[in-house]
Amino acid sequence: MSLTVAIIGAGPSGLYCAEAIARKRPDAHIDVIERLPMPYGLVRYGVAPDHQGTKVVTRVFDRLLQKPGLRFLGGVELGRDIALAELGEDYDAVVLACGASVDRRLGIPGEDRSNVFGSAAFVGWYNAHPDFADLPVEMGGVRSVAVIGNGNVAIDVVRVLAKTPAEFAGSDIVAHARAALATSNVRHIHILGRRGPHQIAMTPKELAEFAVSNALVRSCGRKTCRRGSARPIRRCAKSGKQTSPPCAASPSLRRMTGRSAFIFASTPFPAR
Ligand SMILES: Cc1cc2nc3c(=O)[nH]c(=O)nc-3n(C[C@H](O)[C@H](O)[C@H](O)COP(=O)(O)OP(=O)(O)OC[C@H]3O[C@@H](n4cnc5c(N)ncnc54)[C@H](O)[C@@H]3O)c2cc1C
Repeated sequence: MSLTVAIIGAGPSGLYCAEAIARKRPDAHIDVIERLPMPYGLVRYGVAPDHQGTKVVTRVFDRLLQKPGLRFLGGVELGRDIALAELGEDYDAVVLACGASVDRRLGIPGEDRSNVFGSAAFVGWYNAHPDFADLPVEMGGVRSVAVIGNGNVAIDVVRVLAKTPAEFAGSDIVAHARAALATSNVRHIHILGRRGPHQIAMTPKELAEFAVSNALVRSCGRKTCRRGSARPIRRCAKSGKQTSPPCAASPSLRRMTGRSAFIFASTPFPAR
């Protein structure tokens, strides 16, 4: 008798799981059930729009979804359209691969103010996630942004905020976000982290996008130049302004080095 499997969630976990089952049991009937109309999960709605190379994996998923015995059922939400108990009656096995797409609230005062968003919502907004198309992002006149957390998602957000409209060429950023970001006037982006630069959670590849472009990393009074050497930041004794000339940089980073400060806070985010 052939095996019937329901996989909930068409992100990488669900799809790789489907692939593994199909390889082991070519006779299996696999239904991949997804609440959104499109598959790929956070590869589509999370991975940054200017990282098209990472999104290439969707081609592998496309080929997989065309395999006989495998069905993609989009727009079906477990818990809303179908109950787990029902699936248990209809399938031999049910796999839950629903991801973790909801922001964790910080529980701090000010969290509900306008223009304060969790990264899942903000990233979803610029990545065409249907749940966040109406996120009330007000970019007009915004000059300064604080990004709390210093992992890869933080650095994605910083890069997207800092890019000029032209620099989104070749990306798949959604039109409403591109238009809104074009109205911003961002000069300063502060990255607030619990610990110092040695403990940041960004991976070298993501960080290198900044390092080679000579982004200013101000934390312990040193500046990292594109050659990887660290030099003390020179400041004007009168104004306190930085006097080190910016090196050649990519357009986006040149824009930022001229105007922005990247601060990996070495002290904990103060309680208010
Ligand atoms: C901003 C951001 C950038 C990232 N950049 C990278 C990167 O550059 N490189 C990299 O390797 N990884 C990156 N990641 C991580 C990567 O996207 C995740 O690790 C991966 O998508 C997790 O896969 P998953 O299948 O577990 O979950 P998800 O991708 O979240 O997929 C879960 C799926 O389940 C669906 N679902 C949820 N609940 C239900 C329900 N009740 N009924 C039906 N369907 C449901 C969701 O709609 C979703 O499609 C990034 C993540 C984020 C947030």
